Amino acid sequence: MGRRQYAVIGLGRFGTSVAHRLYTADQEVLGIDINEERVENAELSITHAVIADTTEEETLKSIGIRNFDCVIVAIGNDMQSSILTTLLLKELGVKKVIAKALNKNHGQVLTKVGADWVIYPERDMGERVANQLLSPNMLNYIELSKEYNIEEIILPMSMKGKSLRELDLRAKYNISVIAIVSNGEIIIAPSPDQDISEKDMLLVVGNKEDLALFANIE
Ligand code: ADP
Repeated sequence: MGRRQYAVIGLGRFGTSVAHRLYTADQEVLGIDINEERVENAELSITHAVIADTTEEETLKSIGIRNFDCVIVAIGNDMQSSILTTLLLKELGVKKVIAKALNKNHGQVLTKVGADWVIYPERDMGERVANQLLSPNMLNYIELSKEYNIEEIILPMSMKGKSLRELDLRAKYNISVIAIVSNGEIIIAPSPDQDISEKDMLLVVGNKEDLALFANIE
């Protein structure tokens, strides 16, 4: 991926984490916060950091915010500032604005004022933790729709050492194996004769309920 310019507004735990990860992926990251101490703490772990109040239009203009490929609004508890900042960013023509919402109402307002993507970190992480608890063999998942997921699942002990043909997961559990992760390598569209060894993980697609059954086998 090429080098892109990101701005992260609000250098709390969430904003700092987003900013730092982008920076370690060799992206250009400007951190902005109204609080001097937060800016000083972030300075070493991102490209640049500035002290500014992003609810002021002139300030945003002088930063040249329009030129950034993507701006992340990670302002925490101050909903008014988060909404006003998002509104100004879209008015100034920022192409992609991602905004963090504290709750559903806040999220709806952020969408109304033009946020391109609204995220709910606490809600989503809470769901993720609960899903992991409900499916102990599941390591990771991508939600495709309300009903379907792609999941990375550790093969249950009782199924080890068998081929995909013998396991017959499509008939028995109504799920399809799209890849096998073996020793860090990914085997895409594995053949039915592929043996699955002890430490392998399966990438499977299916209905959430069917997947949950499979991810609970001992
Ligand atoms: P987290 O839950 O991610 O730790 P915080 O609420 O601690 O979130 O962090 C939000 C950050 O947003 C704070 O550092 C705060 O100073 C900053 N912030 C709040 N309002 C503004 C604003 N108008 N302009 C710039 N930064 C702001």
